[in-house]
Amino acid sequence: MQLFSIFGNPVAHSRSPLMHNSVFKHLSYKACYTRTLLEDSTKLKETFFKLKLSGANVTVPHKEAAFEACDEVRGFAKKIGVVNTLINENGRLIGYNTDADGFLYAISEFQNIKKVLIIGAGGTAKALAIRFLDEGIKVSVLNRSEGRLAYFQDFGCSVNSWDNFKVSEYDLVINTTSAGLQDTELPAPKEMIEDIFKHTRYVADAIYGKVTPFLALAQEKQLTYKDGADMLLGQGVLANELFVNKKLAKEDIEKYMKASFSL
Ligand code: NDP
Repeated sequence: MQLFSIFGNPVAHSRSPLMHNSVFKHLSYKACYTRTLLEDSTKLKETFFKLKLSGANVTVPHKEAAFEACDEVRGFAKKIGVVNTLINENGRLIGYNTDADGFLYAISEFQNIKKVLIIGAGGTAKALAIRFLDEGIKVSVLNRSEGRLAYFQDFGCSVNSWDNFKVSEYDLVINTTSAGLQDTELPAPKEMIEDIFKHTRYVADAIYGKVTPFLALAQEKQLTYKDGADMLLGQGVLANELFVNKKLAKEDIEKYMKASFSL
């Protein structure tokens, strides 16, 4: 029996155990997926091996620490320095990132996206920004504070903190902050968000399972919006493929993971 887990703080809200266990159960794969509240990022690797995990997902606020903890990082994760999936490969910790491709899957129904505004400058923002740039999409980043913006500027994003932000035209605006996850906050001052919503066609939130104040405002302004559920599904399917080392068919993984959303 293999054991998998999600690491986060908070982690109680995470649907990942339901999603992965639904796949394992329906496809008779001998594995179990649990959750681990991790307060100290520096203990990630030690805890992973102490629990004898075969693999794990990593969520807020440990994704950058997960990158540092890996013995080897593969694919897109290497480019962005952010890891959301860990695999135990013969005692070595291997890191991947499945968030960005999960998000592209989630917004595939949004047409003609050429310019995106990302609110927030954490791990999720990095993954999305770099993936969008790879697709030739222009990316602006708006964050509460200055500190994390230089990273995005170096990759060619236009960057602003709340203090010097001027609105422009966007096709899609995404909240990648944790504002609204456990509180009733907007990811930027209300007047700023209202102004932004006058200049976009689509709105998305990385947070799933609830209508955040950000999405409630989008709804009020009659914009087309979606929460992070499809992103969660997309990143989960790709992570599960890594967990089972491609021993299960992707269509089956997707089918049973999706089924868990109605539980
Ligand atoms: P990080 O901790 O790496 O980044 C947090 C960012 O949010 C920072 O830029 C921070 O700004 C900003 N921020 C935090 N709180 C507030 C606030 N109250 N108001 C304004 N800005 C704020 O987080 P992640 O990037 O890992 O995750 C962000 C969110 O995305 C989480 O809610 C997570 O649940 C969700 N997520 C969903 C996924 C899905 O599959 N649907 C996948 C991945 C993430 P500052 O720099 O000023 O501190």
